[in-house]
Amino acid sequence: MSENMRHIRLLPPELRNQIAAGEVVDRPASVLKELVENSLDAGATQIDVRLENGGQSRISVQDDGCGIAADELELAVTRHATSKISSLDDLEHIHSYGFRGEALPSIASVSHFAITSAHAGPQQGQATAHRVEVEHGRLTASVPAALHKGTLVDVRDLFSNIPARLKFLKSPSTEFKRAQDWLARLALAQTAVGLRLWAGEREIVHFLPGQNLAARLALLWPRLIVDALRPFDATHHGIRAHGLAALPNVSQPRGNRILLYVNGRAVMDKRLLAAVREAYKGRLTSRDYPQVVLFVEMDTAEVDVNVHPAKSEVRFRDEAAVFSAVLHAVQKALITSYDVADGQWQNTTGKAVDTQDPVHRVRPQGFWGRLDAPRLMDIPDSQPTAQDSDWR
Ligand code: ADP
Ligand code: MG
Repeated sequence: MSENMRHIRLLPPELRNQIAAGEVVDRPASVLKELVENSLDAGATQIDVRLENGGQSRISVQDDGCGIAADELELAVTRHATSKISSLDDLEHIHSYGFRGEALPSIASVSHFAITSAHAGPQQGQATAHRVEVEHGRLTASVPAALHKGTLVDVRDLFSNIPARLKFLKSPSTEFKRAQDWLARLALAQTAVGLRLWAGEREIVHFLPGQNLAARLALLWPRLIVDALRPFDATHHGIRAHGLAALPNVSQPRGNRILLYVNGRAVMDKRLLAAVREAYKGRLTSRDYPQVVLFVEMDTAEVDVNVHPAKSEVRFRDEAAVFSAVLHAVQKALITSYDVADGQWQNTTGKAVDTQDPVHRVRPQGFWGRLDAPRLMDIPDSQPTAQDSDWR
């Protein structure tokens, strides 16, 4: 045993943040998620995201949210510093995406990081802006800056001090796609907010503010699937389940178009997934997956979101109640959309779908050609371009 290992010491803050970063930021997509969630928590109405080299060289997120006061900006990049909770009781009633105060210091510990923020002064229209820079976890600048409104976060050279992490990154186009998927996950939950994504100087996707869910999905999913979506909205025992569910005739062999949200947060959850699949039971072969966007809204005290550092998993107090609320809501959409009298499926416009039309007939595997491919939002494996209008 080396001499050093005989004594217990507190780790230096940079190292603590780098260890935390291992859980919170594992790739450009998770950086994008954390930064965009912060912008949403700040009440932004427009969020612009730019990635360079798949996010590895640069991720910048600019918003028009409430901003951060100059004298609090250094705190924002300090671990366990948050404006979102202040007591254990608050933890039971989380209405924001963030609350752990870990994202900014974690990201700043594994990159060249800069945050510029404008905070409204006591007089209307008077904003003072400040900028803080952090290099691999060390504060290097804290200076007045020029910014009209909101916050701009600029993350360069992600993982440049962690070669092991860098090795786990995939190609820039794969990393870009994952980041794009995360932006889409957030965009579907926050339809009032405008979101734009660039790859370098090229605009890749633009979600206009106020678009409805179906309009946003139309930017992501093939037209035939979007046309087959039925709305559902039902509340059981105080648990509301709503969203859009595609008719069973447009199933696919992968479950990547089942998007689950709990209180606005995108989650992975086996129980919710099981409830959705159960609703389609008997309508799909066991190998086929339905296509559903599901929002569960429930009392924040009934669901624990503090299960995982990235908060993509939740724990329900009453799993069975959630399961049955979801099952019934989705089932209702499917039952009411099937007109038993003439045996025809209805699409979202209420127009009967011609099941004899080869496009709508239950089709063999691979029928849709490239539309059958397992993708949420796809881009060609090369660098995406704005001309790739059918990158979905
Ligand atoms: P958390 O979101 O869990 O509070 P973060 O490390 O992500 O922790 O952010 C720390 C704090 O910095 C937040 O609580 C918030 O007060 C502030 N902040 C971060 N990003 C923004 C933003 N885009 N606009 C306004 N405030 C922000
Ligand atoms: Mg946060």
